[in-house]
Amino acid sequence: MKNIFIKAGIKILRLLKPRKKDKKLFNSLGISESLLKILNKNKFVKPTPIQFKAIPHALEGKDIVGIAQTGTGKTIAFAIPILQRLSENGHGKALILLPTRELAQQVADVCAMFATAVKMRTACLIGGEGKDRQLRDLRRNPNIVIGTPGRVNDHIQHGAMRTKDFNILVLDEADRMFDMGFAPQINRIIRTLPQKRQTMLFSATIPDEVMALAGNNMKDPVRIEVSRSGSAAVKVHQQMYVLRSALKPLLALKLLEEHKGQVLIFVETRYDASKVASIIHHAKHKVAELHSDRSMGQRKEAMEGFKNGKYRILVATDIAARGIDVTGIEMVINYDIPAENDAYVHRIGRTGRAGKDGLAITFVRPDQGGDVKSIEELTGVKLELMTHPAVPAEKLWGYEHAAANRGWNQSALRRKR
Ligand code: ADP
Ligand code: MG
Repeated sequence: MKNIFIKAGIKILRLLKPRKKDKKLFNSLGISESLLKILNKNKFVKPTPIQFKAIPHALEGKDIVGIAQTGTGKTIAFAIPILQRLSENGHGKALILLPTRELAQQVADVCAMFATAVKMRTACLIGGEGKDRQLRDLRRNPNIVIGTPGRVNDHIQHGAMRTKDFNILVLDEADRMFDMGFAPQINRIIRTLPQKRQTMLFSATIPDEVMALAGNNMKDPVRIEVSRSGSAAVKVHQQMYVLRSALKPLLALKLLEEHKGQVLIFVETRYDASKVASIIHHAKHKVAELHSDRSMGQRKEAMEGFKNGKYRILVATDIAARGIDVTGIEMVINYDIPAENDAYVHRIGRTGRAGKDGLAITFVRPDQGGDVKSIEELTGVKLELMTHPAVPAEKLWGYEHAAANRGWNQSALRRKR
């Protein structure tokens, strides 16, 4: 008898409570009808965790520090509130800074997709292409400017871009912008912006420089931290082969024969990228390369070709591939072990999305035991040691201690480039 009452009570409570499902949809976040329509049209129904947490604060004009990995949906998290605030206020402008041309272009595409609905204009200012189109776009008085720090600063210094109305600033992939040595340009740009503004910073990690920037340029920022969406559902099998450098091409080709799906291969330098891509190309695989020696057009073509299946394999350096949104990759190969542990996490995060298990294979030289150890300490997962019948296995040494100051030299070198 008592049980029946309890059950009935629970039922009534459930009926009174708004359905939990509805609370988690985009239409519960205060987004305007016109923007909701486009979200719907593009089949965006349920916000990702960072969107769910950030959009309401961003719509209120609060400063935000968002800590989230690649692929968590940060773009919409800032693009929607920006468009909505600018169109509702009827004045003000937004500047969005990103570390690479590809990322800037991607974010510009997303902004453009939503902008027309609220009668906003965008401009994308990136290096590696002529200034004519950019100057033309700037003369049309865009409401939102998306760009890389170098080129944006260039336009500001030359008087082509006036920043006094820019009362919203977004620093996306902030950690990588500092890694790439953009701090001087970023600071110069910030000095020209109005003091009274909304600043949103997104970063996968929070190094000291990012902390300092947030401390100096933001007002009581709301801190939002999320893990990669669906990380619990996705499992990445992490394996390693220990071998001498000279045998890496052979093993790579063997693995490419055995795995027929899309493969992303990470190398250390742009020279390695060309070299490895040409070896794979000679083995008659469809392969593209992505690194800083390629022209803007070549990089775009490589990315698009990899996304639409023209190329099955993409060989890339970390910087060129950072944040690039490719899903459904069967296997990631770390042809060279990454110089920094963070990069390892980014790299292997590209595989095993959409509920499918992924495979991440790392090639390790015999002397890189300490590097393996420090990666394992970061991720808390042991790399499974594999051997391949066609490739003699070497013994790993130096594994007892994690490598200290891992990758410092390499990243310093990369910065100078
Ligand atoms: P990040 O900037 O965090 O790396 P992006 O903004 O590039 O992530 O989004 C990653 C991918 O997820 C994109 O393909 C994007 O279209 C998709 N996406 C973003 N938000 C949603 C959502 N709410 N529902 C479904 N897909 C989404
Ligand atoms: Mg992004």
